[in-house]
Amino acid sequence: MNAPHRETVCVEAGGHRTAGEPVSPAVHLSTTYHHGGDYEYIREASPTIEAFERVLGSLEGGHAVAFSSGMAASAAVLDGLACGARVLAPTVGYKGVRNLLAERASLGALEVSHVDQTDTEATVAAIGDAELVWAETPNNPLVGISDLAAIADAAHARGARLAVDATLATPLLQRSLELGADFVVHSATKYLAGHSDSLLGVVVTADEAGARTLAERRAMTGAVPGPFEVFLGLRGIRTLALRVERSQENAGELARRLAEHPAVLRVRYPGLEEDPGHELAAGQMSGFGGMLGFEVAAGAEAAEAVCAGVTRIANATSLGGVESLIERRGRYPEEQGSVPANLIRFSVGCEHVDDLWADLEQALDAAAGA
Ligand SMILES: *Cc1c(COP(=O)(O)O)cnc(C)c1O
Repeated sequence: MNAPHRETVCVEAGGHRTAGEPVSPAVHLSTTYHHGGDYEYIREASPTIEAFERVLGSLEGGHAVAFSSGMAASAAVLDGLACGARVLAPTVGYKGVRNLLAERASLGALEVSHVDQTDTEATVAAIGDAELVWAETPNNPLVGISDLAAIADAAHARGARLAVDATLATPLLQRSLELGADFVVHSATKYLAGHSDSLLGVVVTADEAGARTLAERRAMTGAVPGPFEVFLGLRGIRTLALRVERSQENAGELARRLAEHPAVLRVRYPGLEEDPGHELAAGQMSGFGGMLGFEVAAGAEAAEAVCAGVTRIANATSLGGVESLIERRGRYPEEQGSVPANLIRFSVGCEHVDDLWADLEQALDAAAGA
């Protein structure tokens, strides 16, 4: 039989085809194993975690190592750098990773420089002696797109490696390792688990020895995911393709409607032809995803009023769940420099698109009229 499509890999996630074995994945809670077999202690390896890693490895085309969160996964990649190594990071990206890099820099552990990674020429020029380029595409919260293949080529030519946070893309919409990334990181808390109920992360790399090193580091630092979280991750992945398809269909439609609403100054969604990331995204992704940003014309206060005014969409942080979430990112001090104050980040869920629009429209009309 041919290798299955990734949609099929998702549906079969963690299941067995052996007579007498369960069809759905089992949750192994035991922290210790009888001596003499394949497993010893849960911090090193366990069958539930390995089932999750096999699925992610298969979806990304590499070797996956699961972590207790997206941040733990990100930190594990950075922990592989020698003291004082330079990291080239994006000016716009997830604030947790920005904070982590800033702390490492303040301790003298890493040297960190930033560049607008939606500008390929500037990014290539800034690589210099960096040991690692940290990319995030699409980026959070502006949904900007970086040219992964071009950045990977330039990084490799200078002896640097490329790590990509592909949380917003999911493994279904972007083949990060094929585009040249050495590491792809996901906050599996988001689309992979998909129901806003489990904290989980993963790193995938094409290099098997590199994956072993990451797993050894995970055993040393203890950043191991719990079996229930991993089970929820496997459960979530079974419907990943359906959820991603529905949320990006909704996002495309809402982006178009928002772009025509008089209370909206600008919509950021790579699926819109006029979006600066459109061409790049069309080339390197197989869909534009379910995240968008929009700027409220009347300013930051009006944007807060829109967030407070929705009654079906939740005014809450995070993304990638079945339910729609909006948030004004400028409420975080760390994002005030890089994100417009009137920007609302919108994680579009799987509800009926007309219900989402009705909710948004009443909140926008009320904010515009106020
Ligand atoms: C949420 C998020 C993270 C952090 O993941 P956690 O699972 O919350 O630790 C990292 N990167 C991106 C893009 C995210 O959205």
